[in-house]
Amino acid sequence: MEASSPAGLDVTDVAARARATDEIKHVGLSGGALVVGVTAASAFNEFVPPGHRPTDFLPGAESVVVAGSPGPANAAWRSPNRRVMEIAGYDFRENVASIVMAEHIEATYGYRAIQGPTLPTSGQHPPLSMMLAAVLAGLGTRSIAANIVLNPTYGLLYYAAAVTTMPLEPDHVLEENVCPARSCVRLYEQEGRTPCMAVCPADEGGCIDATIEDGRIVHSYFNRERCSTRAMNFGIRGHIKQLEILMDTDDADERHDLVYSDDFRRNLAAIGRYKESVAQCFECMRVCPVGRYRRKLK
Ligand code: SF4
Ligand code: SF4
Repeated sequence: MEASSPAGLDVTDVAARARATDEIKHVGLSGGALVVGVTAASAFNEFVPPGHRPTDFLPGAESVVVAGSPGPANAAWRSPNRRVMEIAGYDFRENVASIVMAEHIEATYGYRAIQGPTLPTSGQHPPLSMMLAAVLAGLGTRSIAANIVLNPTYGLLYYAAAVTTMPLEPDHVLEENVCPARSCVRLYEQEGRTPCMAVCPADEGGCIDATIEDGRIVHSYFNRERCSTRAMNFGIRGHIKQLEILMDTDDADERHDLVYSDDFRRNLAAIGRYKESVAQCFECMRVCPVGRYRRKLK
């Protein structure tokens, strides 16, 4: 590790490092993030294999700065048209904030910084897990509902990160699990299910199950494959499914109808514009109490 950056920051000075960390967080918040946290790059090593660690993408990486932002506006959750949640408000401010912070680190402090790579190049696993990054940066903990990371104040957020060779002051993993919320524990004790388990029960064709003892999750189950067929039908996976159907269809009229169908168009639009359709199911999050009071507006 170099003792001082080109911008003159003495990285062995804890107070100076903390000031620089706060300044970079402020840049992220001004850049559109709702929350920003920091983790040491090495913290990933305990949880993910080689190939999925920050140093695999930026040799010498020291820190990961994580930005979280909500998707649609709070009122969108209450829209009588369920599709509003699917197609409106995904401006991915967390991505903008992360690249703004990366550029700021390079321009101001002279350290290398990249946007953390998140889009899977094969299969469903991202190169670098933003869920893990968010947990390590103290921004939330995993929940029973689809393993989604819940922020204690805001609930569901979307995460992106800047990976940098700059040593920063890391935040701490949250000491208390956000999930299950107290009201969920009470409901579980009365009815054997939390709200998310009730809307998507694994034993009735859904995706979620869990056992809670003394207010803590002792076992949880999430059927990701089943969930993805309900929640992620548009985009590249839906397009591949339709191509398979096309290849197996001999009838020219049927092929024509499929190519000009609404679903086919939406798949292509989702791929081309990426943000047209993020997901089609938010039911487990719709009933989750964490952060829900913020959606109660006039
Ligand atoms: S997103 Fe929908 S299908 Fe997936 S776990 Fe939540 S409620 Fe179930
Ligand atoms: S509804 Fe309750 S149990 Fe389910 S994810 Fe939210 S806090 Fe956790």
